Amino acid sequence: MKNLWSDSDAKAAIDSHAKKGINADLALRVYTTRLLGGEPKLVLHGGGNTSVKTSVTGLLGETIPVLCVKGSGWDLGTIEPPGHPAVRLEPLRALRALDSLSDEAMVAAQRNNLIDPAAPNPSVEALLHAFLPHTFVDHTHSSALLALADQPDAAEVCRRVYGERVVLVPYVMPGFALAQSCAALYEEAAERAAASGVELEGMVLLKHGLFSFGATAKQSYERMIELVRLAEQRSEEHTSELQSRQYLVCRLLLE
Ligand code: ZN
Repeated sequence: MKNLWSDSDAKAAIDSHAKKGINADLALRVYTTRLLGGEPKLVLHGGGNTSVKTSVTGLLGETIPVLCVKGSGWDLGTIEPPGHPAVRLEPLRALRALDSLSDEAMVAAQRNNLIDPAAPNPSVEALLHAFLPHTFVDHTHSSALLALADQPDAAEVCRRVYGERVVLVPYVMPGFALAQSCAALYEEAAERAAASGVELEGMVLLKHGLFSFGATAKQSYERMIELVRLAEQRSEEHTSELQSRQYLVCRLLLE
């Protein structure tokens, strides 16, 4: 998995979007989302989604904190700024106080808090993005990661590959319960990580996919690429281990 980040392309994205009144946060969100979406090995299994926490100015000049999160109907590889509709962040975060929330009520709450009421529906994973503290959050269904995360002993394998750099999340259907579970497990892991001096870089959702996060678009994107690269490396090692075992068996049989 190649890191395709380019400082000059990032700057060009900021400059070209600034002319249309789009801030640098959203410009960079669009730039790295396109980098992820252009790589079939990351998005083959049902796309993925990305977000940035930023702010917009209301009609009275007030600053409104928002989550710009991928909306339905947009392809990651060709996304434009309207593909990340802005949703008021605080009312989304307030939903953490609930014990449960139906899919219908969740979609309604997300739509009710859109800055542009005509914008597409925010991703079904929007609350998961909102509940994490990081400015940038990236999510893919990487083939290499799924090769690890679909195995019966996925938790042990992922722990061996990533150590304490990621949070492991058991399978839960996407929706409110998954967002709550990820937030709670992230917070527990963040406390442990702070005590041991490790920095959390992402989350593996078993049988589902991979999240990375960071303070900047570049950091979150590069963490995604590195976590996928480690999964690819593990798959290659596993394949060559199997091949050398097969070779040994053949030699024993031939002798
Ligand atoms: Zn997903």
